[in-house]
Amino acid sequence: MSSKGSSTAIDTIAQEANDDPEAGTLTDGFHLVIDALKLNDINTIYNVPGIPITDLGRYMQAEGLRVLSFRHEQHAGYAAAIAGFLTKKPGICLTVSAPGFLNGLTSLAHATTNCFPMILISGSSEREIVDLQQGDYEEMDQLAIAKPLCKAAYRVLHAEDIGIGIARAIRAAVSGRPGGVYLDLPAKLLGQTMDADAGAKSLVKVIDAAPSQLPAPDSVARALKVLKGAKRPLIILGKGAAYAQADNEIRALVEKSGIPYLPMSMAKGLLPDDHPLSAGPARSLVLKESDTVMMIGARLNWLLSHGKGKSWGDIPKKFVHIDIEPKEMDSNVEIAAPVVGDIGSCVQALLDGMGENWGAPPADWTDAITAKKETNIERMAPKLQNNNVPMDYQGALGVLRTIIKERPDAILVNEGANTLDFARSIIDMYKPRKRLDVGTWGVMGIGMGQAIAATVETGHPVLAVEGDSAFGFSGMEVETICRYNLPICVVVFNNGGIYRGTDVNPTGGADVAPTVFVKEARYDKMMEAFGGVGFLATSPDDLRRAVNEAMDSGKPSLVNAVIDEKAGTESGRIGNLNPQSVVSKK
Ligand code: ADP
Ligand code: MG
Repeated sequence: MSSKGSSTAIDTIAQEANDDPEAGTLTDGFHLVIDALKLNDINTIYNVPGIPITDLGRYMQAEGLRVLSFRHEQHAGYAAAIAGFLTKKPGICLTVSAPGFLNGLTSLAHATTNCFPMILISGSSEREIVDLQQGDYEEMDQLAIAKPLCKAAYRVLHAEDIGIGIARAIRAAVSGRPGGVYLDLPAKLLGQTMDADAGAKSLVKVIDAAPSQLPAPDSVARALKVLKGAKRPLIILGKGAAYAQADNEIRALVEKSGIPYLPMSMAKGLLPDDHPLSAGPARSLVLKESDTVMMIGARLNWLLSHGKGKSWGDIPKKFVHIDIEPKEMDSNVEIAAPVVGDIGSCVQALLDGMGENWGAPPADWTDAITAKKETNIERMAPKLQNNNVPMDYQGALGVLRTIIKERPDAILVNEGANTLDFARSIIDMYKPRKRLDVGTWGVMGIGMGQAIAATVETGHPVLAVEGDSAFGFSGMEVETICRYNLPICVVVFNNGGIYRGTDVNPTGGADVAPTVFVKEARYDKMMEAFGGVGFLATSPDDLRRAVNEAMDSGKPSLVNAVIDEKAGTESGRIGNLNPQSVVSKK
């Protein structure tokens, strides 16, 4: 049979065999893949159709899976990755071979980097031709290319191995430190037939895909001893803590210990941002002045200045680090008390070990933090209420801050440079896993993919706050949003450029500066083009009205929020990461 054997050919063969009273009923690769996914409670597929998986998507839908087709694989992949974060089940992205696979690979690498469970399933060309490099249609050794970018990569060559292949992919994605997995399905495999009973028996239900990993008792005792000796303790919660869904245990640990906590961006809302022990608005103070820091599901990577240097001040720190990945310990600085295990189990063990009379940290420490918080919040308050036209970030985000406060179940998706940095600190979150953003890489382009998966997986509405540049990476997916009629309100912070809209071409030539976009662009019309609702907002009052109307309606909407083109700063808050030329700097 031809490897690109159409479904009709396969159906015919299967049908002929089924008509033969001597032969048993047949199944094929397509249906074994579907049955294996269903057996493991995977019911949503983020897809871009094409050769050789077009029919796989069709059959999936026919068999009751939800198949959402995107306009570009990267966004289907970002959707799958964030679905994994939100559900603790691997999000599935389905793509065609070579170019589609490569488009999906960025998001697979993103999932791995962020510790999100995801499986990229790609169709691929004929092994015999690929391996002899004879120039097949979309020829590429996809397995080899995927390997360095994911936790595990598998290829299935025989229909009877599909059950095992999918089981391995699921377990690899969610067990231990979660991450991306690649599963290669050659076109020929999908058309292979086998006896239906034998096929059903070949499927594997993954039992306890991510088993609890209990911390060693002496590691817990060591951590408690370090915490007990602290004068100025701090807890840092990362997105691993949000992923773990140990929300009650984490809240109990913070409250019982009385230790102030700092949420990393996607851990915001794990405890409400207005919790008395939140140190968010006193971030610089607590990083500098703390003497003991307990990391829970957060890495000491660039986002935390590697645990050293100016932002951490001069006071020597002792670190307690809770993580499922033993290799994460001592990655940047010495860890005085490593606690390796799953966050739920580790936090519970600490709680048990604390007993009834743990006692609060010294009051001068918590009072100093409270005082600093109050000053910072007071200083910010009037800026958030400004009604300036053109809008600045504070005026616009002050409006969205109130909207999220009034709608704490809405999921906030956020990307951009200034739009990201300001929104992260201005918009308070009140519930776990409600803030989804650019993650560990600070990647631009996650917006529409994450927005789609967020509402599909949770049923909650989404507010996507997007820089105009960031939005551009996934803007075409507004068609996808309209096609599935999803309750997503996109707000584009339109300042006409990257960082700012004011750069000029120093040569005086006709081309605009490399960071500048079309002036007065109407992103709202893009949403209207596909049947959604567009709004133009030039003042905070406009913005409030538009977003509330959009969120109330639950219709696909896009608010083009015109922001002062002079308001942003270069690279938002990470301008220091830009190399600078000493030669051309004038
Ligand atoms: P953030 O960027 O929010 O600081 P990171 O992505 O850097 O968060 O860190 C998340 C950490 O959480 C990773 O080191 C990962 O191994 C860990 N992690 C993820 N899930 C779990 C879990 N269930 N239990 C323990 N650790 C986890
Ligand atoms: Mg911009």
